[in-house]
Amino acid sequence: MQVIPVPCLSDNYAYLVAQGRQAAVVDPSQADPVLRAIDEHRLKLTEIWLTHHHWDHVGGIEPLIEECPIAHVRGSRYDADHQRIPRQTDALSDGDSFEFGDATVDILEIPGHTLGAIAFITEGNLFSGDTLFIAGCGRVFEGTMEMMSQSLSKLRSLPPDTKVWCGHEYTVNNLRFAKTVEPDNQEIDRALEEAIETREANRFTVPGALERELATNPFLRFDDPNVAAGQDAVASFTAIRQAKDQF
Ligand SMILES: [Zn+2]
Repeated sequence: MQVIPVPCLSDNYAYLVAQGRQAAVVDPSQADPVLRAIDEHRLKLTEIWLTHHHWDHVGGIEPLIEECPIAHVRGSRYDADHQRIPRQTDALSDGDSFEFGDATVDILEIPGHTLGAIAFITEGNLFSGDTLFIAGCGRVFEGTMEMMSQSLSKLRSLPPDTKVWCGHEYTVNNLRFAKTVEPDNQEIDRALEEAIETREANRFTVPGALERELATNPFLRFDDPNVAAGQDAVASFTAIRQAKDQF
C-alpha cells in the first residue's frame, strides 16, 4: 500500500491510497490536483473516502465521479442519514470494516469536530480528518468537549507506530501552541525545529508518528499530570481547546 499526499486549497491534504494500480482518495476538497496526481502515478481511482462532510473535504466528489470509475463513496452513517456528503453510497459505523484490494480498512467513529466524523485505519495508516492533527486537534463544532476528548483517547490507543495522515498542514502553529502548554517539554522543541525545516524545504509534515504525538500533542496529553495540573480530564481538555481557539 502506498499513500500519496495531495495538497489542496491553501492547507488541506487529500490522500491517494494505492493498492497496485487501484486507488482510493481520502477527503478530496478539489478534483484537479487529485486528477493530476492520478495521471502522474498512473492510477485508476475507484473509491472516495470521507472523514466528514465539511466543504473543504468533499468539494471534489462530483467532478471526480464525472471523470473516474468511482464504485464507492464512503462516509459515516450519521452523514448519510443527514444527506450531507454528496453522492454517498456506503454508510459506515464504529467497528465496521471493508476490503480495499487485499487490505482491510477499519472504521472508528470519532465525533466532536462534527457528529459524523470517522477515521479510516488500514495497514498502520490512520486517516484522521480534522479530529487529530499533528500536534493538535480540530475545533469542536458539533460535539461536546467530553465527546472530542473521548474520540482522541480512542485514537491514542492505536499502536504507537501508526502513521497519522491528517486533514490540514497546521503542524508548525500547533507545535508553537503546544510549547505554551508544556514549556519544558523538549520533545516539542525537537518536533518544532524539524517541522520548521520541513516546511522551509516545501515538504509535508505528514505522516506524523503516533508515538511522537503521544509525547508532544497537548490534545492527547490533556490528562497527563504535567498538563492537567490537578484538573479532571475533561476540564483540562476544555481549557486547552479554549486556549487554542484564542491562540
Ligand atoms: Zn472539518
